[in-house]
Amino acid sequence: MCAAGCLNPRSHDDERIRKGPDFPIQMNNRIAGIGMTSQRTRMRMIERLRDQGVKDEIVLNAMAEIPRHIFVDEALASRAYDDVALPIGFGQTISNPFTVARMVELARGGRILNKVLEIGTGCGYQAAVLSRVAREVYSLERLAGLLSKARVRLRDLGIRNIKLKHGDGHAGLKDKGPFDAIVMAAAATHLPEMLAEQLCDGGRLVLPLGTREQRLVLVERNGDGFTQSVLDPVKFVPLIAGMST
Ligand code: SAH
Repeated sequence: MCAAGCLNPRSHDDERIRKGPDFPIQMNNRIAGIGMTSQRTRMRMIERLRDQGVKDEIVLNAMAEIPRHIFVDEALASRAYDDVALPIGFGQTISNPFTVARMVELARGGRILNKVLEIGTGCGYQAAVLSRVAREVYSLERLAGLLSKARVRLRDLGIRNIKLKHGDGHAGLKDKGPFDAIVMAAAATHLPEMLAEQLCDGGRLVLPLGTREQRLVLVERNGDGFTQSVLDPVKFVPLIAGMST
């Protein structure tokens, strides 16, 4: 399909992604959850996502597997499966489950993904979901404090196919690309061309675009050309230039 390192359906083990990566999520009582954080509560969230129009079973399976309550403060754990955005510290938020599902579904576009880049690791939840639908995930975060907490959570869950990096997502990760998909978890004011250039042929970039009024935008690469579709209204924290501790 495109240059080395990208989507190659013939050499790719579809089944492995369909069933999830080889290494299962490591379970203990806290991770498995009880009551408002139990698997049953998680499955109710999945049913709600279906009702809201999420159709991609691979995405739904991924979200059924990842314990969202582990990614928020313990005091908020009982709300982790509600359809709300939640604070994750440092003035940032984790998107509501529908927005995560929608973005990952758009990024996948029904394909098996090899390499994916996320801009804005935050608490690490979306990266964890991506780790179940892609072979390799890179995630960039500008705030070192959030990144180190995400690193501990992902390690505790036994997720090993995510590489977290401290950096400004505006530039992407040229040396690790090209990517089958790039997902931005913070709103840009204009289309970041440098990121679009890091897509494979056939690759997809999903991002919130705008300031007060924001829309989800899907950019698809076809050879040297790009098509852009403007989709749902959304509300994200802004993409901010530079790094911080
Ligand atoms: N995907 C995240 C959502 C995080 S919110 C999750 O599942 O929790 C958006 C994140 O983008 C914030 O953590 C913010 O610090 C980060 N961010 C904002 N501008 C950035 C930039 N230029 N580069 C990297 N990360 C950025």
